[in-house]
Amino acid sequence: MADPQGFLNTRERELPARRPVPVRIRDWKEVYEEQELGQLQRQAGRCMDCGIPFCHSGCPLGNLIPEWNNFAWKGDWSDAIERLHATNNFPEFTGRLCPAPCETACVLGINQPAVTIKQVEVTTIERAFEEGLVTPLPPERLSGKTVAVVGSGPAGLAAAQQLTRAGHTVAVFERADKPGGLLRYGIPEFKMEKSVLDRRLEQMSAEGTRFRNGMNVGVDITGRQLRDRYDAVVLALGATVPRDLDAPGRQLGGIHQAMDFLPQGNRAALGEHVEDQILATGKHVVVIGGGDTGADCIGTSHRQGAASVTSLEIMPQPGEDRPSGQPWPTYPMLYRVASAHEEGGERIYAVSTTEFVGDDDGNVAALRLTEVEFLDGRPTPKPGTEREIPAQLVLFAMGFLGPQGSGVLEQLGVDLDERSNVRRDKNFMSSVPGVFVAGDAGRGQSLIVWAIAEGRAAAAGVDAWLTGSSSLPRPIAPTDRPLTV
Ligand SMILES: Cc1cc2nc3c(=O)[nH]c(=O)nc-3n(C[C@H](O)[C@H](O)[C@H](O)COP(=O)(O)OP(=O)(O)OC[C@H]3O[C@@H](n4cnc5c(N)ncnc54)[C@H](O)[C@@H]3O)c2cc1C
Ligand code: SF4
Repeated sequence: MADPQGFLNTRERELPARRPVPVRIRDWKEVYEEQELGQLQRQAGRCMDCGIPFCHSGCPLGNLIPEWNNFAWKGDWSDAIERLHATNNFPEFTGRLCPAPCETACVLGINQPAVTIKQVEVTTIERAFEEGLVTPLPPERLSGKTVAVVGSGPAGLAAAQQLTRAGHTVAVFERADKPGGLLRYGIPEFKMEKSVLDRRLEQMSAEGTRFRNGMNVGVDITGRQLRDRYDAVVLALGATVPRDLDAPGRQLGGIHQAMDFLPQGNRAALGEHVEDQILATGKHVVVIGGGDTGADCIGTSHRQGAASVTSLEIMPQPGEDRPSGQPWPTYPMLYRVASAHEEGGERIYAVSTTEFVGDDDGNVAALRLTEVEFLDGRPTPKPGTEREIPAQLVLFAMGFLGPQGSGVLEQLGVDLDERSNVRRDKNFMSSVPGVFVAGDAGRGQSLIVWAIAEGRAAAAGVDAWLTGSSSLPRPIAPTDRPLTV
């Protein structure tokens, strides 16, 4: 156990500071400063090593949190990273980007601030990289079996790493020019610098995973060709079809999906020239929809020098305390302030867009909105509350509807479920034998931690399909839903 008196002697929850807003919005670097190591270790020492560690079930990966908290508290980074990697291929992604449902399930959190689990996680992996403890783990012998993984987001990468280490020959097909999925072109540099991703990809390449970038499966190679050339296929395509808003004026210039704006911003932030880049510079920006995607649009707009940034949310503003219907250890709906919100702009809740108003050049100039109240669970406009706000760039961040049904899915003939996601059985296999699915393509729009858990579990399904049995871990079943997020 970490310090038996830790939670009594260190009652404060301490996290690293965010860099000052005026400084950080002038660059694209990560927003957090480094935390003093002694302070981090004292925080790890607050873990009570509970008899029933609810944090395990809060974490979709089943991370062995009290075990690595103990080692981190002692400064034994070698054992800490061994325990952390036992359940999580990529703690450097989750340690930066996870909403940490483990922390809202922490037992200490019942009557004191929860242990800073996510911060201990990211510090452990960063120490491990610094101390040379993260090395390639190639398989001892090859199975002679081949697997094609389509899509290189966290689900595809986790499946590929597990399967490569199990001895299979794995090729990851990615239609973008570089691997990473939303980790590379969705999530901005200020949340996770891409060098963090590249460092892990180097390890994977050294282990033997092959990356085929710039390959749009369904176009550059057909589903049938994949089936013929590989013994198994994992579809980790993500949920890339965005929700749209069909209000009058939708056709005006200056109205874009978040995922048209963010990838360009990410490329430009890394010094690439982007032809006809959608820019927030000098504009009144309105982001429709909250969540991570909305926050990333806000932070990117601030860094591009927007004149103003307004974010609209149809739901009412959540409270700052747990609602009684969402008791510990669930993940509550709370008013949260992401780093991007701290950087400026206005958040307007319980409103709906009724019209986009154009200028003489056919570009959006304003957005008309109305307040809404929820009657019988449906947002209903409140009469007399209509108003206009300036909007020269409108970004939709209203979620995603599922994977693209055409192309490779059609060619392979996999069944979709009622939510347009790829249907799978308890082993993550689709309706087509030998074709598996992991991540947002099967689960629907979700989180990185779930994508990694699905990639790991699907890898166990593939391994068993190829060899008759598998010792790879299966952290979750396809039907598992969060206790929490
Ligand atoms: C802007 C944004 C910010 C987010 N921020 C967070 C966050 O902070 N924390 C968090 O936990 N979650 C966040 N999420 C959600 C998280 O990123 C996703 O849940 C996660 O990336 C899903 O992983 P995945 O591997 O299933 O799919 P993806 O990451 O979407 O990867 C799918 C990959 O498949 C490729 N692909 C698709 N079709 C083909 C094809 N036919 N041929 C070849 N390749 C193909 C795509 O190009 C893509 O690279 C965010 C999502 C968005 C959109
Ligand atoms: S992956 Fe997320 S839920 Fe799991 S321990 Fe890390 S921060 Fe917590």
